[in-house]
Amino acid sequence: MNSPPNDIEIIFSRLQLSAENGLSANHSQETPNKKYALAKFILGEGNRRKALISAGIHGDEPSGVETLCAFIENNKFEKFTDEWELTFLPCLNPYGYEYGSRENHEGKDLNRLFKEDTPPVEVAFAKSILEKPYELTIELHEDFMSPGYYLYQKGTHPEDDYLGEKILQTVKDIMPINLDDEIDGCSAQGGIMILENDFKSMDWWPMALYSFFKGTRRCLTLEAATMFPMDVRVEAHLAAIDTALNYFSGKK
Ligand SMILES: [Zn+2]
Repeated sequence: MNSPPNDIEIIFSRLQLSAENGLSANHSQETPNKKYALAKFILGEGNRRKALISAGIHGDEPSGVETLCAFIENNKFEKFTDEWELTFLPCLNPYGYEYGSRENHEGKDLNRLFKEDTPPVEVAFAKSILEKPYELTIELHEDFMSPGYYLYQKGTHPEDDYLGEKILQTVKDIMPINLDDEIDGCSAQGGIMILENDFKSMDWWPMALYSFFKGTRRCLTLEAATMFPMDVRVEAHLAAIDTALNYFSGKK
C-alpha cells in the first residue's frame, strides 16, 4: 500500500492538536487502513458570540485546511477571542485530505448527507457540533472550475445579505470575483449564489443548510478558485473570515 500524498498528522501538529488537548475522542473514523481522529478545537471558550469555522469536508480542497493553519499560526484569531468563542473543525474528511479525494473512504460526498438521520461518522460529528446555536458559521471550499472567488450565504436576518457583498469587496483585491450569471449550474449575481429552492423541499442538505436549520444567524460557504496558487487562496479566505467576524463584532 503506497503512503498517501498528504499527512493529516502534520496539520494536527501545526495546529498543536493532540489527543490530550484537541482531538475529539468520541469521534473517530475507522477505515480499512487507518483510524482517523476527527478534530475540533475552541478558542475564547465561554464568550457570548459564537462562530464555527470548518474546512476539508471535500478532501481535494486543501486551501481551507491551510487557511485554518494560517489563521492559527499567524495569530489572526487574537483580535477576536476576547469577544468570540471560535470553534474550528480543521478537517472534516481526513481520509479525503490524505488521498486528495473529494469523497470519504466509502466514496461518499459528505456535504450532501446532512439531511440523513444516520449519516457517515464525519457528518454525525459535524452535526453534533451544530447542536449549539451559532451567530456565524463559515465553511471553506474551493472550486476547480471557477475563474474567481464566489460564495453562498443564507441566514435568519435579511439585512446580513450585505455581508456577502462586503466579503467580495475585500477579496477582490486578492483574487478576482467570479461574475458569471451561472456558477456550478446555479444562478449567481456578482459572485453571490442565488438560492432558489425552498431548502425544506430539497432531497439533500449540505452542512450550511443544516446549520441554517439549526438556527445559525448567517451561514457562509466560501469558494476560492483552485486555479490560483495556494497562498492566494489562503489569503482570500483569511480576508473573508476577517471581514465576517468584524461585521458582527460591530453589532450589538
Ligand atoms: Zn467543496
